[in-house]
Amino acid sequence: VPDNGIGMRHDWTGHHALVIGGSIGGLTAALLLRRLGFDVSVFERTPTSLDGRGGGIVLQPDTLRWFTECSNQHPEQVSTSTHHVQYLDSENRVIHRESVPWSYTSWGTFYRALLADFGTADYHLGEYAAGFDENADGVEVRFASGRRERGELVVFADGIGSPSRRRISPGTELEYAGYVGWRGTVPESEVSAETFELLHDSISYSVAPHTHIIVYPIPSPEGGLAVGERLLNYVWYRNVPDGHALDELMTDTRGFVSKVSLPPGQVQRRYVEEMRSAANELLAPAVAEVVLRTEQPYLQAVYDACVHRMALGRVALIGDAASAARPHAAAGTAKAAANAWALFDALAESGDIAEALAKWEPGQLELGQRLLRRVKEMGTRSQVDCTWTPGDPDLRFGLYGPGW
Ligand SMILES: Cc1cc2nc3c(=O)[nH]c(=O)nc-3n(C[C@H](O)[C@H](O)[C@H](O)COP(=O)(O)OP(=O)(O)OC[C@H]3O[C@@H](n4cnc5c(N)ncnc54)[C@H](O)[C@@H]3O)c2cc1C
Repeated sequence: VPDNGIGMRHDWTGHHALVIGGSIGGLTAALLLRRLGFDVSVFERTPTSLDGRGGGIVLQPDTLRWFTECSNQHPEQVSTSTHHVQYLDSENRVIHRESVPWSYTSWGTFYRALLADFGTADYHLGEYAAGFDENADGVEVRFASGRRERGELVVFADGIGSPSRRRISPGTELEYAGYVGWRGTVPESEVSAETFELLHDSISYSVAPHTHIIVYPIPSPEGGLAVGERLLNYVWYRNVPDGHALDELMTDTRGFVSKVSLPPGQVQRRYVEEMRSAANELLAPAVAEVVLRTEQPYLQAVYDACVHRMALGRVALIGDAASAARPHAAAGTAKAAANAWALFDALAESGDIAEALAKWEPGQLELGQRLLRRVKEMGTRSQVDCTWTPGDPDLRFGLYGPGW
């Protein structure tokens, strides 16, 4: 791995760091901590390889930064791209189009690339961190398996359902946004020629009262990037009242209620049928075709969470574990990566872990709060006020602000 040119920095060789959660935030942090000299171990609750997880991610510079600056794998090897942003009306007419390039990846493609750089020797599957305790010289993490591990630094990147959030930031709860995201993918090769032509070089929006959907191309499950071999991926935001209606929707085909997500194949059939008929009624025909051709759509209920603390002594909380923001800025993975890069900078400049974390925390809290304020406004415009105007620059993606 080439040097990133940061120059003088504190060398943490001989120190052990534990990273809890082995997804995009956790792996980015693990790679960066190793770069500072730490001996890093990652612990991921899922017992089997995660690379079957699908789903598209709009790429922002922070998410890609590991590949731009530190890896021998290049961003183009893990991403697809389009040249335009467009809005379609109910007859497939383009009502707004601008030349704005975006790139995308799939969760699986990106995860495989990060793991290829980290390696599997210190990546432990099937380990659920249940609790931790800290004393003067380190932190002990207790796992559900009975395992115990000590580190001088622990980074929790354990996602939106983070059990550590409650310990580090007591009182911070997930807040339901009032809507769910229906998600799915269809091979580009399986849609009509007309739909392919209309969608393949754009991120496309279809907006109707109290709802909107976005569609964009992502790598195939095998990582294929060629136009025509990719998948069309969508997220369709639909309002569902909190309470029994949400609980019933989020009850899987086996009868288990999930708070946050239902994977492909586990959404009750009657809900899939209702969603398909609503797609026909509400969406641009090309976009509806993508939705209708999805064999196994899946669901994510949209939640926000915003912590008041991200550092506790030698323990740091990053990514969705710290603050989860509804996805309208497409910046969740970028924020997780930005948290990890800022941690890298803080530890590079200090010889004391708790001191570095204390310096790192305020800027990262501010970043999460600012993003959350913005995406709440964006969500309200679409799902409540119906003022989501095609092409409004305030609606652009971005971690720091619209378009950047
Ligand atoms: C509908 C939707 C669309 C989105 N679109 C985008 C987008 O376009 N662009 C974007 O950047 N972001 C997007 N996001 C947000 C993005 O998915 C998250 O922000 C991102 O995955 C956060 O990464 P993370 O590593 O913090 O957490 P996660 O990816 O959730 O990973 C947490 C990991 O920790 C593991 N884990 C949990 N608890 C424990 C434990 N106790 N011990 C060990 N392991 C544990 C989990 O199994 C998981 O692997 C979207 C989100 C949604 C809901």
